[in-house]
Amino acid sequence: MEKKVIGLLVVSCLLAGCRCRQGSVPAEPVQPVAAEAAFVPVFSAEPIPAAVETRMRGVSYPENAGISLSDLRYLRLSYVDFEGHEQVGELVCNKAIADDLVAIFRGLYEARYPIRSIRLIDDFGGDDEASMAADNTSCFNYRKKTGMRELSKHALGLAVDINPFENPYVRPSRVRPSGASAFADRARDFPHKIDEEDLCYQLFRAHGFSWGGTWRSVQDYQHFEK
Ligand SMILES: [Zn+2]
Repeated sequence: MEKKVIGLLVVSCLLAGCRCRQGSVPAEPVQPVAAEAAFVPVFSAEPIPAAVETRMRGVSYPENAGISLSDLRYLRLSYVDFEGHEQVGELVCNKAIADDLVAIFRGLYEARYPIRSIRLIDDFGGDDEASMAADNTSCFNYRKKTGMRELSKHALGLAVDINPFENPYVRPSRVRPSGASAFADRARDFPHKIDEEDLCYQLFRAHGFSWGGTWRSVQDYQHFEK
């Protein structure tokens, strides 16, 4: 009986990598059991990498005289999605606001502020409507203002749209993205609504951005620009 117990102990020691049989030989420090791979948040800004340029050319970045690629930065930003999971998103912005955005998104992440997704508009073929319909947060897209000839601040990478489905662009005649009309009524309370009490609003304002939610003729609740 006793022999069997000792035998079991030896076997279990061997299985566990136990060093009890090494006598007086100094044991090496035992490696800690590998913890569950911890999520390491990332908040980086760098010149547009070649692979990202390939994705952008002819999509968000057509041939143009307005902005050079060297004025843009590629950001990787950790965020917490609507299901509470940590994710890493991609965003392209003007180098003039790269530090602001890194600080703002770090603040949002630390507060576990929910963001649906942060993907380049190129993943949506440069189609702003498609990106908004997917509730995607984005920044740079070389395009004109909605329904106008003038370039949008997005064309310079100086505007960011956050959770656009719950925070649509509202004209008296039309709500964009289509399907988001229910979120045009800002007297109503619902999750992910940006208003002046909202952390996202407060962080962007603290960094000198203006908010489209207080524009007069149209309201663009998703939109912050500098
Ligand atoms: Zn916008």
